[in-house]
Amino acid sequence: MTIKTIQESAREAAIVDRSDVVVVGGGPAGISAAVSAARNGASVTLLERYAYLGGLASGGMVLILDDMHNDLEITVRGICMEMIERMERMGLCVTPPERDRQPDIRETQAMWQKWSRWGVFDFHTKSMPHPVCYAAAFDPDGYKRASNELIQDSGVKLRLHSWFSSAIVEDGAIKGVICETKDGRQAILGDVVIDTSGDLDVAASAGARFQEGTFILTTVSRWGGVDTDKAERYQYENPEEFARVDHEAKRLIGGCWNYWWLKTPLPGVVWLNCPHMPKLSGTKVEDLTEAEFEGRRRMDRLLAFAHENLPGFENAYVVDFAPQTGVRQTRQLEGEYVVTKDDVMSRRHFADTVCRGRDYYTPYRAMVPQDIDQLLVAGRHYSATPQAQKSSREIPPCMAMGEAAGIAATVALNAGRTVRDADVGLIQKKMRDQGADPGDIPSTNALTQEAAE
Ligand SMILES: Cc1cc2nc3c(=O)[nH]c(=O)nc-3n(C[C@H](O)[C@H](O)[C@H](O)COP(=O)(O)OP(=O)(O)OC[C@H]3O[C@@H](n4cnc5c(N)ncnc54)[C@H](O)[C@@H]3O)c2cc1C
Repeated sequence: MTIKTIQESAREAAIVDRSDVVVVGGGPAGISAAVSAARNGASVTLLERYAYLGGLASGGMVLILDDMHNDLEITVRGICMEMIERMERMGLCVTPPERDRQPDIRETQAMWQKWSRWGVFDFHTKSMPHPVCYAAAFDPDGYKRASNELIQDSGVKLRLHSWFSSAIVEDGAIKGVICETKDGRQAILGDVVIDTSGDLDVAASAGARFQEGTFILTTVSRWGGVDTDKAERYQYENPEEFARVDHEAKRLIGGCWNYWWLKTPLPGVVWLNCPHMPKLSGTKVEDLTEAEFEGRRRMDRLLAFAHENLPGFENAYVVDFAPQTGVRQTRQLEGEYVVTKDDVMSRRHFADTVCRGRDYYTPYRAMVPQDIDQLLVAGRHYSATPQAQKSSREIPPCMAMGEAAGIAATVALNAGRTVRDADVGLIQKKMRDQGADPGDIPSTNALTQEAAE
């Protein structure tokens, strides 16, 4: 097909709202950013394209909060921990208790058999069994409900069904955003805009520098009717036969993590974080469309195979496929500092660290674009190389980044400064005051030398 373009005429958009802080994208990072900014006194509008909050954690049915614990301590707390506690109260979240995470037992076979099918283990260690660690297996609707509660309690103005389409930029500073809605184009103005769209939609539209990354796509799904006790007994009582059948299952779907099915808080319902589909872009309509069909084809094959060959799965059926395609990586900001894989792997600590993940640290500069003022970026599209992002993009660290960005916006506004010049020491203090870990005090295993500027 010959590619053609058309010239659009200038259009008007109704100004429907103004806030101190406008957050675009109601996923894990966006919820945290909005709640955090509101709790620090800002008026906040949160925009989300879909009918619910949670992003990949709910609509993408990514059902484990991990990368929040190193060998020594829980490293992500704050709003992420509040979410976990709310979901626990609903009976929709499972975490291993402290006694099962003690150094003398966390790497034993008994703990492995008890917890591995919940996915709450440290998959970064090479030794087997992997040690049990603090992580949370949760229900996607639980995440939506807990998000709604948090947003309502903090007084955030939420606008669902609002698809961001373009940034309003004047004199190098962002002034607001335009959304496409059923009611026409709408403008929402703000003194600070936080891009938490995951795909850097706002910053890219505003003209910020970024690099294109790519990673596997996945159509995540859930199966019901699984006798998980029977399946686990089979795995441990017939390890060789299990290994052969499991290997064949993985071959059939053409790529997946080692533990391709995991338990969920709903009895008999398992989470399938597979298959892996490489070479498809999370921003290309054609690729996203193909992924939906290809993913379902592969999972149909797997279900038929499981019925016949995997004890415990004889009566399994598809509960649902995630409404959102599992996109892990697309555009990455090239901000004031670009986090490298070496930074993540060597646990490099930065003087302007404002949050952290498992055992890596995020400098404030990795949330600040080089070229556009009054814009912050938090979540999986933060300023990191594509390789670094692959090891630092889990939900808890994205929530921690959002929490720090929300505070940073208010710290800057209260001081009458730009977000680029926000007082990092105050952001760190406020993070700690509200129960989050700013990562300003490095763990004993961190590399404390400052990264080369
Ligand atoms: C298949 C898969 C498995 C994963 N496994 C794990 C795991 O086991 N544990 C873990 O912790 N992490 C896991 N991850 C990573 C994790 O899910 C993401 O990195 C995390 O959700 C990122 O959060 P975020 O808020 O930055 O982005 P997202 O979760 O992508 O949220 C972005 C939000 O912005 C909204 N949005 C996007 N564009 C627009 C627009 N133009 N206008 C308005 N709204 C918009 C979206 O609808 C969404 O709500 C996995 C990811 C995938 C895809």
